[in-house]
Amino acid sequence: MSPLKIIVLLALFYLLYRLFSAGRRKKVNAGAASSERPPVGHDVLVEDPVCHAYVPKGQAIALRHGDKTHYFCSEKCCRVFLTHSDQEKGETG
Ligand SMILES: [Zn+2]
Repeated sequence: MSPLKIIVLLALFYLLYRLFSAGRRKKVNAGAASSERPPVGHDVLVEDPVCHAYVPKGQAIALRHGDKTHYFCSEKCCRVFLTHSDQEKGETG
């Protein structure tokens, strides 16, 4: 076997090795990149359906109503919403 062929074979093995190692590294990089961003949803504004005020999601009062989650500025608005939703039970939509 000539020395040139050995060099070509070594180069091929090196390329294959790099391909496999590059594929593994991509997954690690993707995980590291996501940690750079701060968690979203901390200061998202949600609308109060009763008084239509915008409240930060973290401070709002969350109420699960069926499949939806409603957010209120205070417990008072939450109660108003519950009494209103009870009155509209007969309505079909
Ligand atoms: Zn309110």
